[in-house]
Amino acid sequence: MQKEVIIFSVLFIFLLSCAPQSVPPEKDIPLEQVNSQPSETVQNFPTQKSQSQDTSKNEETNKTPSKEFQTKEILTPEITLTPEQKLWKQRVDNALAPTFCPPVEKQTYPENYYLGKLTDTHLHIPSIPDWPADEDAQMKTETPEGRFGGPQALLGWNVKISEISCTIQHEGTHNNFAFFPVYDEEISAYQLEIWNKTMQQYPDAFTPFIMSSGNDDEPNGFPTVDAKTLQKMLAVYPRLFSGYGEIGLYARENGGSPELPPDAARLQEIYPLIRKNNLAVYFHLGDGHKDNFEKVLEQNPKITFIFHGDQLSIDEVDDVLNNHQNVYYGIDDFFGGARDLFEMFVGKSKEKYLAAANQRFNSIVEQGVSDWKSLIEKHPDRVLWGIDRGDAVWNYDIDVGLMQVKIARAFIGKLNPAVQEKFAYKNALRALGDGEK
Ligand SMILES: [Zn+2]
Ligand SMILES: [Zn+2]
Repeated sequence: MQKEVIIFSVLFIFLLSCAPQSVPPEKDIPLEQVNSQPSETVQNFPTQKSQSQDTSKNEETNKTPSKEFQTKEILTPEITLTPEQKLWKQRVDNALAPTFCPPVEKQTYPENYYLGKLTDTHLHIPSIPDWPADEDAQMKTETPEGRFGGPQALLGWNVKISEISCTIQHEGTHNNFAFFPVYDEEISAYQLEIWNKTMQQYPDAFTPFIMSSGNDDEPNGFPTVDAKTLQKMLAVYPRLFSGYGEIGLYARENGGSPELPPDAARLQEIYPLIRKNNLAVYFHLGDGHKDNFEKVLEQNPKITFIFHGDQLSIDEVDDVLNNHQNVYYGIDDFFGGARDLFEMFVGKSKEKYLAAANQRFNSIVEQGVSDWKSLIEKHPDRVLWGIDRGDAVWNYDIDVGLMQVKIARAFIGKLNPAVQEKFAYKNALRALGDGEK
């Protein structure tokens, strides 16, 4: 037995050194180990002492976990799960469970539509439920309300990763910037395990962003965790994430956390970590954040920032794009003309939403053209397409995905042909520093 473990360890280390692109298998930390000793898991990685220094050396160090860590992982004996751990494991399994995906039908569009590749740069992935595991039975009849009303989408509860993947295949988006929630609580180990397995299962469907929300439902809370917590989260599966966000820096409605300006101390401590981990940043700015955002863009020329939202006027967005090269703007305004259709039907009827979107289809597209065409064409390399799905269960439905893509293809078809592919997917690759995929 001892011998087998040693042979396996050697093979394991060898395989690791051969697979620079993939997330190393040693990161697949057994659930029971993560759950019982979450902080120990990360203590084996180098701690970040001087974040402001050039971190290229540290990056290298961080890419290869120590032998001590690998050996310890492999030798950890099986631990019997407590009933609570079993319930959490069940949630992880439910989130990742397979579902039937009907055969993908080829879509036909009018010839003046854009027919090329599409990357949705704004896809929210729901979390698993965060209530205590033993409350599942009670919550069957009390699923929490989503932010815009109606039952909240919860992974493994009313939607699964396999269903989201199925929708993506059917709608025909090539890739998606996926915002994976990770909370500052015990649940984070399970969330991270799910996201790691999701990326192993669907490496081409998603570009993973860590959406490390803080306690933003509290009046004294924050929209994101602090740097120390983020560092621990990122260390569990090094190199898993390509981005950090979406982080909403605006003040939360209903007595939640106040605004967090982009140059706030909490974020200033986070930027070196972003740089060290080679992440892109996705912000939803708050009102009046233009100046302090520009200051941060200036201070961090090597970090790529993406922002979206209507807190800045289109003129202000134009100004930011003019003044800085390390920033992109995401447009996700096609959900039904300033999102009003979505908000009208979210939590209610999908069929009514689709009927209304079909009825107003041309005006939705024309509104998009009048609002955005000139900005996109003025900054052909710096504006990204996205949907901003999240919250409502039917958001992840195939028919709704097809409608979003149809609107997008009609809209992009009205842009200057020279910028169509850029807006549709090439700028998304560029923002992440990738070449053609
Ligand atoms: Zn947003
Ligand atoms: Zn969003």
